[in-house]
Amino acid sequence: MPITDAIKKQIAQQRRLFYKICFKCGGRNPISSERCRKCRSHSMRLKNRNIGAKK
Ligand SMILES: [Zn+2]
Repeated sequence: MPITDAIKKQIAQQRRLFYKICFKCGGRNPISSERCRKCRSHSMRLKNRNIGAKK
């Protein structure tokens, strides 16, 4: 079922794209987090793609 609501779609895309990924365990963390919540590693990369890049 496609999402027709523009605002809901925007929120969903942000939830999907804006987070940090741990280098060590690959865990997903909130964008505001400094350390991984799984292994507490400081090495995290930012998953921060532009909205609308795909599709
Ligand atoms: Zn980790």
